Amino acid sequence: MKMKPILEVKNLRTYFYTRRGVVKAVDGVSYELGEGETLGLVGESGCGKSISCFSIIRLVPAPAGVIVGGEILFGGSDLLLKSEEEMDRIRGAEISMILQDPMTSLNPLFTIGDQVAEPLQIHQKLKGEGLREKVREMLNLVRIPSPEVRMKEYPHQMSGGMRQRIVGGMVLACRPKILIADEPTTSLDVTIQAQFLRLLKEIQHTSNLSMIIVTHDFGIVAKACDRVAVMYAGKIVEMAGTVELFDNPEHPYTAALMKSLPKAGMRQNRLYAIEGQPPDLRTLDSGCSFAPRCPRAMEICRKEYPPRVEINDGHTLSCWLRKGEVLND
Ligand code: SF4
Repeated sequence: MKMKPILEVKNLRTYFYTRRGVVKAVDGVSYELGEGETLGLVGESGCGKSISCFSIIRLVPAPAGVIVGGEILFGGSDLLLKSEEEMDRIRGAEISMILQDPMTSLNPLFTIGDQVAEPLQIHQKLKGEGLREKVREMLNLVRIPSPEVRMKEYPHQMSGGMRQRIVGGMVLACRPKILIADEPTTSLDVTIQAQFLRLLKEIQHTSNLSMIIVTHDFGIVAKACDRVAVMYAGKIVEMAGTVELFDNPEHPYTAALMKSLPKAGMRQNRLYAIEGQPPDLRTLDSGCSFAPRCPRAMEICRKEYPPRVEINDGHTLSCWLRKGEVLND
């Protein structure tokens, strides 16, 4: 990665201590996010994408979820060493997060104006006409028509696309440096999805915002991301620039995900599906966690987890099939 990193995640481990065992939801994840860059985190449900993001803002569901190790360097200082008060100042002001369902982020009992105003009151201490002006500005930024009227309305009076844009206005109100978007367009139809992604990219270009987009949709990755990290069973198994990953998916899991995408212009009776199920994260052994589903698994794969190697400039993966410079995270 050539850009100056604004965020460095190093060997992050987040576990859930349940009655039925320890779930290693995130187990040794490392990556950097550059200024103005968009990183896509992809993988099947339950692979640790969202939990790794909740770990960044220290909102892992407690008491079961615990960040047991690693470093999260934001502007050079470790977020895992900050006090709760310091994290309260960082969340929303410097690092913001959009969740997948806008209705869970908006309170049905408060007006749109009150909800967009809240982070501005808390973090920037705005009030009176200055606050109203800023709320109007944010609603304009996210293309809400007639913001003066919409400010007085409630979430149920908006369409799904408008609600998601309003959530965008709320999380961008304080001009954060990093936006984490967890499946931000899942509840939107395809046209609105494209509009929302375009809007995020426009805002990113004007404000040098860095973004992490969590998704299982490679279409979103292709449209919005500069680099992609593919996660499986709590680990990043491959990471590369978006074009490089689409052209040369080297890890058998990434290749299988790519193969399962529908192809434009090709008639397919059945889409390809990866055999088997993701592993139980409580009972992982020492080998490669994809081995039970991997058509190319070898003896060593079942015994030892492959080291992370760099096979090309910025293209890293963990697989015994590929040799390269071993990276120590
Ligand atoms: Fe498949 Fe072995 Fe590579 Fe794992 S390390 S993805 S099992 S070939």
